[in-house]
Amino acid sequence: MSSFEYNGNPSRVIFGSGSIQKLPAELARQKLSSPIIVSTPEQTSHAELVRDILSKAKDGPVAAAGIYSKAAMHTPAHVTEDAVAFSKKSGADSVVSIGGGSTTGLGKAISFLSGIPHVVIPTTYAGSEVTPVLGETKDGKKTTKSDPKILPGTVIYDVDLTMSLPPGLSATSGVNAIAHAVETLYSRTTSPITNLFAIEGISALANSLPIITSTDASDVPARTAAQYGAWLCGVCLGTVGMALHHKLCHALGGSFNMPHAETHTVVLPHALAYNVAAMPDDLKARLAGALPGSDGDPVKGLNVLLTRLGVKRGLKEFGLREEDVDRAAEIATSNPYWNPRPVEREKIRELIRRAWAGEEAR
Ligand code: NAD
Repeated sequence: MSSFEYNGNPSRVIFGSGSIQKLPAELARQKLSSPIIVSTPEQTSHAELVRDILSKAKDGPVAAAGIYSKAAMHTPAHVTEDAVAFSKKSGADSVVSIGGGSTTGLGKAISFLSGIPHVVIPTTYAGSEVTPVLGETKDGKKTTKSDPKILPGTVIYDVDLTMSLPPGLSATSGVNAIAHAVETLYSRTTSPITNLFAIEGISALANSLPIITSTDASDVPARTAAQYGAWLCGVCLGTVGMALHHKLCHALGGSFNMPHAETHTVVLPHALAYNVAAMPDDLKARLAGALPGSDGDPVKGLNVLLTRLGVKRGLKEFGLREEDVDRAAEIATSNPYWNPRPVEREKIRELIRRAWAGEEAR
């Protein structure tokens, strides 16, 4: 085994069906009594559920300071400013966010800027809840910062809240999680420990997502396995540096306003096909082993998975124009992340073109 460094992120995790009911006790444990609850407009009912649980709690004097339900994709700076002002005015001593990565991002921003603790209740598979990373969009430009203070203190994974995630979004959000783990396996900063998380997370998601999309979106064991896998993949994202795939998706999301999870889903097989030859053989074999139907080839395994999930395969289906391919290649190759294989502009252009056209990765 070669030498490595490992930095674990100290999250407290409460996992299981019905665990949202443990929120009042968790806040009381931290001597917090008046959280602001954050959600998107679409998930106001989830925020109200949290408020009602707090109001009926027997675990100490906990009551919501208010609900802020204007979270939006890519954490726009003007929303953050408004939310921080709302939080301060309400006298909140903590923030509880309930939703996907967009809501978690706003919760992180409020917590970081106001210095109040953050409890996250994730309802997608994005993984932001276990990373110390915060994205922000201002004047059309997306930037990210990393700081240990951004990492939420407690995560409550309650599978019941994922049941309403539509099968299509479950599929793409799950593949978004798989992307974190795939890039971990060839990351410069990975370790045997992080690789364990990655393989276990990919396997849990690759086996459960097809059940959610094709058999029964309310299958409790499948939903539980998917959430477990998403947590492990999120830990990977928060622990090691990402590479080409995340750089491509960052460029496409930030500069072309492409949808987050869907873009990850289209790009991942192409990014893996680009990097697979630079992967250590043992990890390549373990990745293939985690993907049913791979026949020992992880790129084939991903192609099989995406076919089973029935997801869209072309960036053009999400509004990217053919004439954008050049500029996307330019942005993705300027100031590139570290990557196991050299990032060459013409080859990346061809990768993006294939992903744009919806051609199968190879
Ligand atoms: P999202 O949070 O934007 O959610 C998409 C939509 O689904 C929203 O309308 C949301 O309210 C709804 N939704 C979420 N859960 C639901 C449920 N259980 N039932 C019904 N509807 C539900 O999507 P996402 O993919 O989770 O997050 C994407 C954002 O997260 C991007 O901005 C991305 O940059 C960020 N992100 C950040 C990190 C990080 O570490 N900082 C990691 C991953 C993603």
